Amino acid sequence: MDVEDTISAVATAVGEGGIGIVRVSGPKAMTIAERLFCSATSKNIADAPGHSALYGHVVESDTRKCIDETLLLIMRAPHSYTCEDVVEFQCHGGAVPLRKVLEATLKVGARLAEPGEFTKRAFLNGRIDLTQAEAVMDIIRSKTAASLQVAVQHLSGNLSQQIKEIRQALLYMIAHLEAAIDFPEEDIEELSARKVKEGIEPILAKLGKLVSSAHSGRILREGLKTVIIGKPNVGKSSLLNALLKENRAIVTSIAGTTRDSIEEYVNVQGIPLNIIDTAGIRETEDIVEKLGVAKSRELVSGADLILVILDSSMPLSPEDRQVIDLTRSQHGFVLLNKSDLPAQLAVEEVRDLVGQWPIISLSLETGEGMAELEQSIVDEVYEGQVSSEAVYVNNVRHVHCLNQAQHHLQEALHTIEQSMPIDCIVIDLRGAWESLGEITGDTVGEDLLNQIFSQFCIGK
Ligand code: GDP
Repeated sequence: MDVEDTISAVATAVGEGGIGIVRVSGPKAMTIAERLFCSATSKNIADAPGHSALYGHVVESDTRKCIDETLLLIMRAPHSYTCEDVVEFQCHGGAVPLRKVLEATLKVGARLAEPGEFTKRAFLNGRIDLTQAEAVMDIIRSKTAASLQVAVQHLSGNLSQQIKEIRQALLYMIAHLEAAIDFPEEDIEELSARKVKEGIEPILAKLGKLVSSAHSGRILREGLKTVIIGKPNVGKSSLLNALLKENRAIVTSIAGTTRDSIEEYVNVQGIPLNIIDTAGIRETEDIVEKLGVAKSRELVSGADLILVILDSSMPLSPEDRQVIDLTRSQHGFVLLNKSDLPAQLAVEEVRDLVGQWPIISLSLETGEGMAELEQSIVDEVYEGQVSSEAVYVNNVRHVHCLNQAQHHLQEALHTIEQSMPIDCIVIDLRGAWESLGEITGDTVGEDLLNQIFSQFCIGK
């Protein structure tokens, strides 16, 4: 990427909308605006202060033919999203006018932006770090208010702050040890090693806490993959409908990973429940029979949560046992549905089969038990510790770096226990320091950056 380039892209979603924005960033942004903007009030772009708007028209640079009406936003370096000069043409939101405006900017010296390039520039210019850049994408893709909150916290830098403090502490220890290497008196060495050991332990505790938040964090970001399973007529579709009806904030219904299923997001008290709705759920056919045991096993093994439904108005049948057997190695809840009807099912028998799985009595007819089910799901995700203040790690990449840092610090403790030379401890500490730096982007390679930003949308 050449930061000398001036980049341009349509920053709003494709399709019809009230307004559409073409965003231009880079050293030539103001010149490009001057070539294409015709003020309705004879105001000059050069005289306009940063964060101001001028009303007028976008015109073709050569013919001066009007393309669209526009409000031109002017943001001057370094007070912009990218820290560069930025102009935004706010036009009417339609594919054709926006494309014409975009083409006009390209004609007078801009280059089409790559996906995520605006945010990448914000990162390279030091306005945000990598966790914040990644948070931008998470905000755009957040599925519920709770996932949005985690992403906004990351954007505000709360994860980076914790990582920076830990790196600072590591750097302090490294400096201390290096001083001891330079003045190699034995008692200093011993003292240093002991101090470092005392320093590493609280850091490991902090890292452990961050890693354990990743379970909730990942689910808030990606959704809790949930499979509803049971023999025909137990109430699978009724449960799906009840969840969909009570929690209207369905984000999308997208094609699932297999052709046999679609995925729906349901918002259960802020938790995006990603219900893997097998074809068998909607129809009253037997899911196991329909998909086959191997396929059902595959589906079940990829889930975070299994909801096994049994009909409590009937005795336990061989099919119920088959369903339980299929899911036993996973984690989930057993729902004893139709609690409004006289009970025929021996709960003790179910208890013997499912071990630790919570058993929830439910009636999808009356709604009884739905609140308990939802609360159990919430407890499951937060492991009983809901906190709006907590920092949740929500990104697999971050977890990987945290694990690496943990590993290096364990090695450092081992090195100290073995009374190995101080240089070896320094190597371990530096390893941890670098792994953590990959989270914030302080020690990160070009390849990884490209990989991260390529997941962004164009214009962001
Ligand atoms: P599926 O085949 O597992 O998807 O089951 P359905 O959701 O289609 O439900 C089968 C039948 O049981 C339907 O007639 C539902 O109205 C009925 N049903 C579902 N839940 C309950 C319940 O809690 N109580 C009663 N009495 N009937 C229910």
